[in-house]
Amino acid sequence: MNLVMLGPPGAGKGTQAALLAEKLGIPHVASGDLFREALKEQTELGLTAQSYMDRGELVPDEVTIAMVEERLARSDCDGGVILDGFPRTIEQAGALKGLLHDQEKVIDAAIFIDAAEDELVRRLSSRWTCRNCQAIYNVISNPPRVEGRCDICGGELYQRADDVPETVRNRILVYRQQTSPLIDYYRDEGLLVTIKSEGGIERVQQKILEALQIT
Ligand code: AMP
Repeated sequence: MNLVMLGPPGAGKGTQAALLAEKLGIPHVASGDLFREALKEQTELGLTAQSYMDRGELVPDEVTIAMVEERLARSDCDGGVILDGFPRTIEQAGALKGLLHDQEKVIDAAIFIDAAEDELVRRLSSRWTCRNCQAIYNVISNPPRVEGRCDICGGELYQRADDVPETVRNRILVYRQQTSPLIDYYRDEGLLVTIKSEGGIERVQQKILEALQIT
């Protein structure tokens, strides 16, 4: 299965994508994680992306598409992939379709996680991420068992620099202008599955599994 996760920042895409990837036994490929890893290693890609990420802007399409293309070419994606945070523009969506087509693959569904905008800033400002395995926690609704430590790998939890309120507001604006047109794009392709981000992590996951008819 090749799945795309869509939705505004803070809707819970990453959390749901990770659960789904585990359930289906396929990789969770998050473009933001790929950029953050490149930045940690101080590669040219990471340094290019940094200035955009710090402002909550999108990294240019050609850079992003090349990075995701390289990741999708790895053999662990042969049996399917959950894409999280990519595509984020119509151009990226077109490139993805072409890329998969070349490998005789298709997107099976685009899961749009729909969340109320006033929830997003609140959610993101209480989000903590594992520096090691990128697992996501929310200090209010989904805290780690030990403060500041990842339940899964014991790694250190940190708050992303772009989760500060001012940058979050810009990310939401960028989402509205550049990414939300993908909702209609995937609806027109007959691939859109809309899930309301309400009722907690497990309930949302259950709604996704039901919609995809995964048991
Ligand atoms: P995320 O972890 O998905 O919230 O992404 C963090 C930041 O990485 C975004 O605010 C962008 O600066 C950059 N980024 C991630 N995915 C993309 C993408 N598909 N296109 C352009 N920029 C991206």
